[in-house]
Amino acid sequence: MNDEVLLRLENITQEYGTGARRFIAVENVNLTLDEGEYVALLGPSGCGKSTLLRIIAGLQPPSRGRVLYRGQPLRGVNPHASIVFQTFALFPWLNVLENVELALQVKGVEPGERLDRAVDLLDRVGLDGFETAYPRELSGGMRQKVGFARAMAVEPELLCLDEPFSALDVLSAEALRGELLELWSEGKIPTKAILMVSHNIEEAVFMADRIVVMDKEPGRIVAELEVGLPHPRQRKSPEFQKMMDQVYATLAGETRPESEEMGVAPGEVGVTRRLPEVSLDDLTGLLEHLAESDLPQHDIYLLEDELGVDTDRLLRLTETAELLGFAVIGNGDMELTPLGQTFAEASILARKEIFAARARRLPMMRWLLKMLHAAGDQRLKWDVVESALNLEFPPEVAQSQLENLINWGRYGELLAYDVQTEEISIDKETAPAYAGAVR
Ligand code: ADP
Ligand code: MG
Repeated sequence: MNDEVLLRLENITQEYGTGARRFIAVENVNLTLDEGEYVALLGPSGCGKSTLLRIIAGLQPPSRGRVLYRGQPLRGVNPHASIVFQTFALFPWLNVLENVELALQVKGVEPGERLDRAVDLLDRVGLDGFETAYPRELSGGMRQKVGFARAMAVEPELLCLDEPFSALDVLSAEALRGELLELWSEGKIPTKAILMVSHNIEEAVFMADRIVVMDKEPGRIVAELEVGLPHPRQRKSPEFQKMMDQVYATLAGETRPESEEMGVAPGEVGVTRRLPEVSLDDLTGLLEHLAESDLPQHDIYLLEDELGVDTDRLLRLTETAELLGFAVIGNGDMELTPLGQTFAEASILARKEIFAARARRLPMMRWLLKMLHAAGDQRLKWDVVESALNLEFPPEVAQSQLENLINWGRYGELLAYDVQTEEISIDKETAPAYAGAVR
């Protein structure tokens, strides 16, 4: 291994939006990548992983801070880096070979040389025999291999991968991971370092030498962990499992006091916390699963397999359970609170009541209920509420946050929504708590 520094990020901050909508996507990130390293950038959706990758590749300049490549400040696109995206945009009218040849042409490789090089690249990613196939004839896994071949055609020193396996089915993803590791560890590609974005803890522990853990709101680095395990790594080995546990401990964090966990309502001073976007059926499933066990504490990393959910979804669920006061989290373990236990064992109706009582305390729910009470006939158009949320969040976030909020509100029978009129209203069944206010 060579210790030459390839890439250095200094105090990188990225803001998006303007005025009241301006928000910090990535804050004060410092990171070094050495030659010979395979580093995974791990964190929940929205923590700024793709943003950092685009900054590193020079596809966008950061708002603040600088990128040094081999000690030189980066200006414009980094010619030594290439990115493999989640799904690769292949040209549908070109066959596999022509798609790769085009990348070589863009790089300025002579026509005579292109064909041989392209054939060789396809061979290396295991696509020999498919040179004349068109993208539509290929499976997702094979298309992604063409993507890898195209990225490698430019012989990048730094190969940036943005969740390259996440759009593939389980088997193709696994095969492609193995092939990439082989190309890399046996020096079959001239790449000096790999930076892979992932939201899958197991994948990061399986592939990387070092894991950089990020968290969101604002996106930032919270830990760096060395994975000192030899390849090929055994997922079921105690060392591997211990590493998974450790990463979950960093990512799932610790339950903080309620006021901090909940944040503030829109329009108030402070950070309005986004509600984790989860289905309440999934949440119920998780709580039931925990309640059935005899042990008080559960390793969160084990739940991934037990429940068949991926890291991202699991972390959203643990966050929801924590936010609603159904569980506490610390050291990568999760423990049901008495309330959580009661919820899991309750009838459907009792569950709704418990949920409603907790959901009403969430600043965003409180805010929406208050606005509805203030409205003349206790109903508001979806658009009106969405534009209010637009002052807090980027547009696509405001929309999905409102959808989530309404789903939760309907589950707890706090809110009703009429698809025809697109109106949100107070659920009339919630009479006792709002006796004076309900018509
Ligand atoms: P990740 O890859 O970790 O899921 P991203 O880097 O894609 O995160 O996004 C980080 C945050 O920045 C998210 O809240 C996302 O909505 C926002 N964001 C990303 N790109 C843009 C953009 N071009 N304009 C405005 N907001 C953006
Ligand atoms: Mg991303």
